[in-house]
Amino acid sequence: MEGRLVTAPQLSIAPFTATILGSPRIGPNRELKRATERYWAGRIDQSELAAVAAGLRRDTWAALAAGGLDSIPVNTFSYYDQILDTAVLLGALPPRVKTVADPFDRYFAAARGTDEIPPLEMTKWFDTNYHYIVPEIGPDIEFGLSPEKVLSELTEAQEQGISARPVIIGPITFLALSKPVDGAAAPIERLDELVPLYIDLLQQLSAAGAQWVQIDEPVLVTDIVANPAELAERTYAALSAATERPSIFVATYFGALDAALPALARTGVEAIGVDLVAGGDNAVAAVPELAGTLLVAGVVDGRNIWRTDLRAALGRLAALLGSAKAVAVSTSCSTLHVPYTLDPETELDDALRSWLSFGVEKVSEVAILARALREGPQAVEAEIASSDRAIASRKSDPRLRNGDVRARLQSILAAGDGRGPAETRREQQNARLHLPDLPTTTIGSYPQTTEIRKARAALRAGEIDQVEYTKDMRAEVASVIKLQEELGLDVLVHGEPERNDMVQYFAEQLDGFFATQNGWVQSYGSRCVRPPILFGDVSRQKPMTVEWATYAQSLTHKPVKGMLTGPVTILAWSFVRDDQPLADTANQIALAIRDETVDLEAAGIAIIQVDEPALRELLPLRSKDKGDYLSWAVGAFRLSTSGVSDATQIHTHLCYSEFGEVIGAIADLDADVTSIEAARSHMEVLDDLNAVGFSSSVGPGVYDIHSPRVPGTAEIAESLRAALKAVPAQRLWVNPDCGLKTRGVDEVTASLRNLVAATAQVRSES
Ligand code: GLN
Ligand code: ZN
Repeated sequence: MEGRLVTAPQLSIAPFTATILGSPRIGPNRELKRATERYWAGRIDQSELAAVAAGLRRDTWAALAAGGLDSIPVNTFSYYDQILDTAVLLGALPPRVKTVADPFDRYFAAARGTDEIPPLEMTKWFDTNYHYIVPEIGPDIEFGLSPEKVLSELTEAQEQGISARPVIIGPITFLALSKPVDGAAAPIERLDELVPLYIDLLQQLSAAGAQWVQIDEPVLVTDIVANPAELAERTYAALSAATERPSIFVATYFGALDAALPALARTGVEAIGVDLVAGGDNAVAAVPELAGTLLVAGVVDGRNIWRTDLRAALGRLAALLGSAKAVAVSTSCSTLHVPYTLDPETELDDALRSWLSFGVEKVSEVAILARALREGPQAVEAEIASSDRAIASRKSDPRLRNGDVRARLQSILAAGDGRGPAETRREQQNARLHLPDLPTTTIGSYPQTTEIRKARAALRAGEIDQVEYTKDMRAEVASVIKLQEELGLDVLVHGEPERNDMVQYFAEQLDGFFATQNGWVQSYGSRCVRPPILFGDVSRQKPMTVEWATYAQSLTHKPVKGMLTGPVTILAWSFVRDDQPLADTANQIALAIRDETVDLEAAGIAIIQVDEPALRELLPLRSKDKGDYLSWAVGAFRLSTSGVSDATQIHTHLCYSEFGEVIGAIADLDADVTSIEAARSHMEVLDDLNAVGFSSSVGPGVYDIHSPRVPGTAEIAESLRAALKAVPAQRLWVNPDCGLKTRGVDEVTASLRNLVAATAQVRSES
């Protein structure tokens, strides 16, 4: 019999089997960062920048195809940010930006501002360390489609022979993440206006030859909109009813869809992506509505760097097989959040290396799992065996468990928080420190001058040794102390010249962490960070900051603050082990910081600041999980700060002024002095704190360090007088709103001179 008919149930054959939701775009060696910054500096022109971008896209697609993916995301490239791209797509740039004629420069003006145009705000992308540009939706915004970018990237990929799947941000997520301005209603209320634009876009993509389109709706896993399931069903029923459209794949990530999953499945969309890493197995608990849908199962962690346990992942995939029409394998989210590849990491030991998986390696994990689904697990036996070995090696590595740390932690936690009541502490600290009312201080760092950067580069290049470098940094400390004395500040700092980064500096000195050589990830725009990897139990071998603090203290009779980074911030800005609860890891870091505070105190340091700028960043996406998080986060901070006597003053610094849901937690930190970013909304911040019964000292930033502008004396004095209406002089500190490391020496000197003068003026008025 010839031409045997295929009678296998077509329904179970997935239209694609292996994909990822998006990929990094800064370039394996940050080529896009460099080119963009050169364009901004006027050193290359648009066509040169565009050529770098096109080259990166081409290489990315080629690598994804070669890696074994059979559907490849395109339009995940961005010159700055995907939400800003979506604002352009939907004609939603604010009027002040539309005055810039050139589209390229208009785009960058929205992101970064110009001399005349203030930029749009930027904020964190869900609970990641990526930041997106917040679209402003005023009453005068008229949406309109500008699909040039996505269409041209689709064509470009097709010309390269790529099985391309354009990716766009969905209308619900776009509006939910936008902010209303000029008295406009909540942007989400304009959802129905966007639906016809998306239908138009779908049809244009179909006409351009797209078989599939991926529409990202991460907001559906959060409580940001009140009724995600209903919005999802309404919107996607409408989009899927369009004729002449590509198949629709709605991608969600960073959590479980809950009720929005059956709601989406009831619409006519062809595929739904679920994050089985953040959402857990319950992310697809018995949803009969999925029977007609392709389930794109995000089993490979897209945002952490651990190698996938292939055997376990395969088990999870097998369990899903009956629950949907077909199953495809994917990363849990875009791999934007992890470094490109392990290749350049030559300094890792073999064990450590075998536990890791960066962007390229994750693609291969997806491809292996998909092959196992298509051909049976025996087809990838060798790969599974290798994964088993890596998982076993990680589990049994002695560096993962430090009995000493665990025992000490247990006994300290059992003994409870030993600090006395706030009032007693205040009395003892006053008697020790003799500070005036309205004490003046700074947040820690002073300008990272050219000399500092030169010395760091010379150290890296081997031109100077550690001894020489330390000498240079001490000279810098001495000059910063001298400056502060001349200015007449009351509580001094050493200026942090020796620190490249407030987390990396500690990670490099603690056991349980290691640093990558080239593990860059995009933080925002052209800005990249290289988060340390926290892989094992954390412990401190020896004091980390004591010499710097005591050296600075030896140069002055005024108190010098010891300066530490808090446990939650160290956790938030690292890649963190996934084999124990975050709370346990936070406590281990806290113990190391606590040991440092005890050593600082013993060395005669009377004031210690433990910075927690990231406290709000790790807040879970669902309200029901927030209380638990805040309780362990506050616990870790208190563990890190409660080893010192009542006479030692604990400061903390937080980098935001809209406290929202963390306001109660800030009071619970129980620091003696809290400095906060408040230059823009002084009174509100203090009123918010008063409303939760906060009764410790507070330093609402009296000027904005994010701008080069020097604040006038009268202006600062005015802001202090306003603050005094909410907080008595005995509890009010005077400081800038954040560290000064990004500013120039002259601006800083002039600003602080005015800050001290304004304080003297206001003191004399009482
Ligand atoms: N102490 C740090 C500094 O002054 C705090 C930085 C921050 O808040 N992000 O630089
Ligand atoms: Zn700050």
